[in-house]
Amino acid sequence: MSDVETALRGPQAYAMARRALELMERHQVWPTALNFEIWTHFVADPEGALARELTRLISIGEPLTELLSEELAAAYLPKARLNEQIRDAGDLLSKELAAVAKAIQNAQKTNAAFGKTLAGAAEQFEAPENLEAMRTVVAGLTVATRRVQKENKSLEQRLAESTAEVDRLREHLEQVRRDATTDGLTNLANRKAFDEELDRACAETDDNGDSLCLAVLDIDHFKGFNDTWGHQTGDQVIRYVASVIGRVGAPPRFAARYGGEEFAMIFPREDATMVTALLEEIREEVASRMLKRRSTNEDLGTITISAGFAQRHRGEASHSLMERADAALYASKRGGRNKVSSAEASAESANAA
Ligand code: GH3
Ligand code: MG
Ligand code: MG
Repeated sequence: MSDVETALRGPQAYAMARRALELMERHQVWPTALNFEIWTHFVADPEGALARELTRLISIGEPLTELLSEELAAAYLPKARLNEQIRDAGDLLSKELAAVAKAIQNAQKTNAAFGKTLAGAAEQFEAPENLEAMRTVVAGLTVATRRVQKENKSLEQRLAESTAEVDRLREHLEQVRRDATTDGLTNLANRKAFDEELDRACAETDDNGDSLCLAVLDIDHFKGFNDTWGHQTGDQVIRYVASVIGRVGAPPRFAARYGGEEFAMIFPREDATMVTALLEEIREEVASRMLKRRSTNEDLGTITISAGFAQRHRGEASHSLMERADAALYASKRGGRNKVSSAEASAESANAA
């Protein structure tokens, strides 16, 4: 990872960036920030794990979709970055702890020496020879006491510094953790965070027997929108939809960008009626908004989303719940889009058909 960073700041950086763009064009990959990151890694480190996996996927004719890019990034990029940052923070933390241990050791040594001085003084007090001898003992005690005071003071200072440093490291790790679980475009949780949260919510539901619903939402005909208005404008629309979803999906609910133009939501302790109402609220809000391109004031028309959700069966595995929510989304798409469907209703109509 660090090699790539350095290389990207060297004079050959522009050539590498051009080569990455060429490759993206040749393989018909959108020049998104993420793809750019992936392909510059490919160029910078052609023997690396990411490059080898990409080469393999190309050789078997795997289509290079957005989802695949995200999977590659999840597998090869943030993890590597994350590992590096965690390792650095870990190194700093051990250095800090070693320094504290050393300071404590020094203080212990000084305290032990002080103990000896005190013991010696006590002996001499038991059999005082003369005033002069007493004076020497007291002077020695004063020096030893000062030394201990100084040592304790510096230990205190060292501990305070160390506490501040450990706090800073903790904040940094928290930030790293947030970055690793957040989608960069929308600031919603990413897929990895969502999968973890879903497993956690399922386990919690198993414990308390509460209801749990899972929804998936997908922008309708978004390929056409991108083709007409361009990918960047498309990204802004994804951000807009995410903001509506994020508002409804505030805690204790959970909302994530699951893939390109697809979102997922968890509704703990809410039943099908409540979830339908909330998803309808999102659907209506998105469909009712006339979109405008700010820079040119062009009318972009309206977009719509489709949603599907499933209420978890007792003990149901998260992937099965996800499959049923997906099937409900598919029912919304088949039924004409701009719709909300529940897995229960779509299963019934599929049985009736
Ligand atoms: P449907 O109504 O069936 O969902 O049609 P669709 O065109 O939205 O469906 P499909 O899944 O075939 O295509 C999704 C498109 O979304 C492909 C791609 O053009 C676009 N897309 C996916 N991820 C992103 C992204 O991160 N940014 C932008 N701008 N577009 C994306
Ligand atoms: Mg779509
Ligand atoms: Mg889609």
